[in-house]
Amino acid sequence: MTGIFDFYRKDRWPHMFCPGCGNGIIMNCLYEAFTDAALDIDKTVFVSGIGCSSRIPGYIFADSLHSTHGRAIAFATGIKLGNPRLNVIVITGDGDLGSIGGNHFIHACRRNLDLSVICVNNNIYGMTGGQQSSATPHGFVTSTTPLGNIEYPFSLSALAASAGANFVARWTIGHVKKLTKSIRMAFEKDGFSFVEVISSCPTHTGKMNWMSDPVEMIRWLKDNSLSLKKLEMPKDPLSASNPLDLIIQGKIVIGTFRDANRKSYLEQVDGGDKGGQK
Ligand code: SF4
Repeated sequence: MTGIFDFYRKDRWPHMFCPGCGNGIIMNCLYEAFTDAALDIDKTVFVSGIGCSSRIPGYIFADSLHSTHGRAIAFATGIKLGNPRLNVIVITGDGDLGSIGGNHFIHACRRNLDLSVICVNNNIYGMTGGQQSSATPHGFVTSTTPLGNIEYPFSLSALAASAGANFVARWTIGHVKKLTKSIRMAFEKDGFSFVEVISSCPTHTGKMNWMSDPVEMIRWLKDNSLSLKKLEMPKDPLSASNPLDLIIQGKIVIGTFRDANRKSYLEQVDGGDKGGQK
């Protein structure tokens, strides 16, 4: 590849994203990470489910599969097992991965299947009208929780790490360099690698909550993040501030949650079961 338009299909422009959507930043980070990792685009398949971010693979000059809602991991699993030489990259959203496809997600982590998954967490079902998802923060107003969400959100990164994924990191769209580096590391890691990106949906989350200005939203995400390294772990694991929560003390916890070298599913298929963690 010699430039971004060898990666993205100019013939499919203009894209369908709203002005100011975080997907644009993520697409740029994805391109940079893919180029840095020097992956062969002819040996790569992008898989997505349903949602705004799941439209990203359709803009990439590569084989891609836009599958059914919540089933991106299931389709990706089939592709990887059918042809293990392919790089299989999943682009998904919080509703697609954590809500409708939650069971596929946790079991792929548990198997440590060799997939790279980028989850665009905009805290909402954006494409279908701004409904609450399993990642919607407590108190957020959505089209289905007009008085504020009374449920607590999944921490998708904590879920992936505890289920057994080899690599897990979370950043926001305000952390472009760290996000790009983590996506690259995810591409280079054996086993299941997961990068969660806290993104913006100015059209729904922004308008219904604090702000609809996209720049303000990015600034807010950046200013309201807390590095995992600076987090003081509570002595009582049952305390209100669970160290695995998505938001602690009003801040989004960011960082690398896990970087392990447990044998991947395919390493064990190819090399025999040498067992457990390294
Ligand atoms: Fe982006 Fe939200 Fe528009 Fe979807 S609805 S394209 S997530 S701003």
